[in-house]
Amino acid sequence: MQKIDFSKIYSYSKLGLFKKCKKQYHFSYLDPVISPIKKQFFKPRDYKTKGQAVHGAITLFYHLPKKKRTFEGIKKCLEKAWFSEIDATKAPPLGKSGGFFDLEHERRVYKDSLRQLKNLLKIEKNPSLFYVPAKNIWESFGDYEDMIKPLGEGIMISGKFDRIDRLEDGSLRVIDFKTGKENGSFFQLEFYKLLAELNFNNKVSHVSFYFLDSGRIKDFDVAEKDSSEIKISILKKIDDIKKTKGFFPMPTRLCDHCDFQEICPSFNKQNNIAKVFS
Ligand code: SF4
Repeated sequence: MQKIDFSKIYSYSKLGLFKKCKKQYHFSYLDPVISPIKKQFFKPRDYKTKGQAVHGAITLFYHLPKKKRTFEGIKKCLEKAWFSEIDATKAPPLGKSGGFFDLEHERRVYKDSLRQLKNLLKIEKNPSLFYVPAKNIWESFGDYEDMIKPLGEGIMISGKFDRIDRLEDGSLRVIDFKTGKENGSFFQLEFYKLLAELNFNNKVSHVSFYFLDSGRIKDFDVAEKDSSEIKISILKKIDDIKKTKGFFPMPTRLCDHCDFQEICPSFNKQNNIAKVFS
C-alpha cells in the first residue's frame, strides 16, 4: 500500500491552527523532532473528552437500527463512547486520563454530555442520512484518510464529517456538531462544501452547525457559492503557509489550551515574568 504523505494534506483545523499560532502549527506539523512524537505532548482535557464522547455517541447512535434510536439507545452509546483520548483502554471512571479532577467533576461533565444528546433528539426526529462516520469511533483516523482528495500540484485536502444528509432535491447538507461555544467560521462552511463535493460528486446546497448546548441549528444556504472560488481561497491559504519563513509564537489567552506550553519559548518567558509580579 502506498504511504500517505500527511505533510501535503490540509484540513480545516490545520489551516485554522496556522492562523491561531504559527509556533503551535510548526510543533504540530513541521518540526522534525516534535511533530512525529506530538501525541506525547497531548494533555487530557475535560472538554476534549466530552466533545469526542458526544460525537462518538452520535455516530454509534446512527449505526443503530431505527427502532433503537431512542433516548435509552443514545445513553448506551454515550457510555460506550466515554473513553480517554490518551488511553482508550482505560475503563470509566476516566479520572485524570480524561482531564477530570475527581469523580464529581467527571459525573458533571457526563451529565452535561447526556443533556446535549437529549437536545439533539429534541431538534430532529428522522434525518435523511447520506453519510455518517465509521462505527469504529476508537480509531476514527480512517474517516480522515477516506476523505483525502487532491486539490492542486502535490496538495491534498481532507477532514472528518460529522454527518451528511441528502435533501429532497437530491443535493447534500453537511452537518457539524458543536459541543462548545456557538462559533464556526464561514470559511469552515466553504471548506466542508468543497471537500464533500469532491468526495461524493454531488452538489452541497446547505451546511449547518448544530449547537448541542443550546439545541440551536444555524443553517447556511451555500448552493450559489462557487466551488472553484473556494478552491482558490484554500490554495491561497496553503501558499501563505508554504511561503512562511518564521513560525513565531503568537501568545494569546488560547495558550492555556496549548499542549506545547512546556517547550514554547514564549509561554515559558511569560510565565517567568508572571512569577515575579504575582
Ligand atoms: S503556548 Fe501559546 S504561543 Fe506557545 S505555541 Fe502554544 S499557543 Fe503558541
